Amino acid sequence: MTTTRFRFPDWLFTPWVVFTVDSILSALRIGITLWGGYTISSVVLVGYGYHDVGDTWAIFGAFAVITILRWSKRRENEGLINAAENTEAIFQLIVVAGLLWAALTTLGGALSGLYTTIVLAAGGGAGMPEAAPHVFDAHALQIAVLVMASSIGIALLVSQHLIHAGKIPGQHALAAAGKEMRGDVLVEIAILAGFLGVYFFSKPWIEYLFALLVTGKILAIVKELGSVAVRSLLQVSIGKEFEKGVRKLIGTTTGVDGIGKLETYPVMESTVRIKVWVLSGGNLETAADLTRALEEALLVYAKTHGFEDCRASVYVKMPERNLHRVAQVVHERYGHVRIASRFARANMLHVRDVEFGRPTLLKRHDLPIDEDALVRFLDEHKVKSYRAFEEEPELVAKLEEAGIRYDPAVTITFNLRSSDAN
Ligand SMILES: [Zn+2]
Repeated sequence: MTTTRFRFPDWLFTPWVVFTVDSILSALRIGITLWGGYTISSVVLVGYGYHDVGDTWAIFGAFAVITILRWSKRRENEGLINAAENTEAIFQLIVVAGLLWAALTTLGGALSGLYTTIVLAAGGGAGMPEAAPHVFDAHALQIAVLVMASSIGIALLVSQHLIHAGKIPGQHALAAAGKEMRGDVLVEIAILAGFLGVYFFSKPWIEYLFALLVTGKILAIVKELGSVAVRSLLQVSIGKEFEKGVRKLIGTTTGVDGIGKLETYPVMESTVRIKVWVLSGGNLETAADLTRALEEALLVYAKTHGFEDCRASVYVKMPERNLHRVAQVVHERYGHVRIASRFARANMLHVRDVEFGRPTLLKRHDLPIDEDALVRFLDEHKVKSYRAFEEEPELVAKLEEAGIRYDPAVTITFNLRSSDAN
């Protein structure tokens, strides 16, 4: 027997759809909760409504982070990656500040309510009728149940949506917002139970006790979110053991001659940032392959160490000081580029500037008419390294005579459109 599992379409989990749908639903949740809270003058509901504002703001923050990360990837901009990390932490700290305020408001309401209840029970309280705690009537209970049921419904829907979208690589920030909201459901059920208690036992203090519970829950979130954000902002190292493992992993990788500086620190709850400076004796193409391989290996390593995501940057430094300009003969066709086996088989010449192991600027030139013209051209353009797949020995000799090294290319195809062609 085969069962076909229903699958939601992928576009449902793209950042824009998640952001639009979930922030509208969350705004609805804030509106309903605050409206209900003020209508039946409930300390718990009003306090909880302000807590909802924090949840919505967290979705905004996650969306901002994902957007900045996409820009940084598209532009290969290291500065933007760091900016995204800080954006995440700063957004979280704003959420923390808002939640702290909500917790204090709720706590104040609960304590003053409890105080009034105690004073009245003790027979005092003359001259303070307005402050007398209200007892729920059936109408108030209806509103409270309606509000909490809607809030639970929205929290379940939105949190599942966020958590699912957060499983897609690069969208992890959404999952944290979703998990917090999923945790809310238990509190909401408790609040509902509290309202039923107030109604059936006519004991207003039950609501105030539940307000204390909400305060506790909010303070717990404040502590967790706050410490994660601060560790992320201060770039506190993951730890010696973790870094030792990273060094061992990189050190035993083929093509790595040495490791320079290594930085590891958390980016919010479950992402780790790793920056490592590697020394390699390979050439430009192997450096690109090495970078990619190490970044993949670090991601796997991070996952086995309890992190859900890893943003790794590997900077490969060549020991060769003169390697700053490289030329390669290529065969270009429909934007698809193959490194030519030799000058005679090429139709275009690419010259790249190399900075700290990474190609930075690519210039395309028409192929010089003959080998001598090629050598002259390379010499005039201060090219230090010449690449082809399998060059003729005669040309190699001429190049060497001009002080240009011949490095057989290893990677033989790439796409001009996806490369850093300018
Ligand atoms: Zn929440």
